[in-house]
Amino acid sequence: MRRAIFPGSFDPITLGHVDIINRALPLFDEIIIAIGINADKKYMFPVKKRVEFIKKTFANEPKIKVETYTGLTIDYCNKKNIDFILRGLRNPADFEFEKAIAQTNRKLAPVETVFLLTSAETSYISSSIVRDVLRNGGDISGLVPKSVTSN
Ligand code: ADP
Repeated sequence: MRRAIFPGSFDPITLGHVDIINRALPLFDEIIIAIGINADKKYMFPVKKRVEFIKKTFANEPKIKVETYTGLTIDYCNKKNIDFILRGLRNPADFEFEKAIAQTNRKLAPVETVFLLTSAETSYISSSIVRDVLRNGGDISGLVPKSVTSN
């Protein structure tokens, strides 16, 4: 069973995340979208909402599970028998950041990180910009799945 975890904050899930997940679906038997909870971080959406947005978006996709976790991603992988970590790459800054994390993770556990390159249409989208637009009363409907705007 090829099981992957797609870890992130998903505050909120965007069309960039959706693109990576949809393109990863043929590669794995199961993808666990895992919301990492960091007690020191401030979030815009409560975790229950973030889970709900993702579940609604992929309601018709049996390969996808949505979970939350605390602590190291690799510890969660060991606990859940996950062999692959899925991450998206948008730009050189993502690459540098992700490279350090992936190499550290590999040092700590035999988990392989799989990177998918963002689609041109969604490469500029980030949850932080979505939050900014939202805070200032802008329209986010072109940036996030329907589950977020129908909230
Ligand atoms: P984190 O808090 O770990 O940065 P995010 O929820 O922001 O979590 O992102 C989770 C993953 O989704 C990361 O691998 C990130 O690079 C990827 N990602 C975010 N936005 C996009 C996008 N527009 N295109 C492709 N990948 C993306």
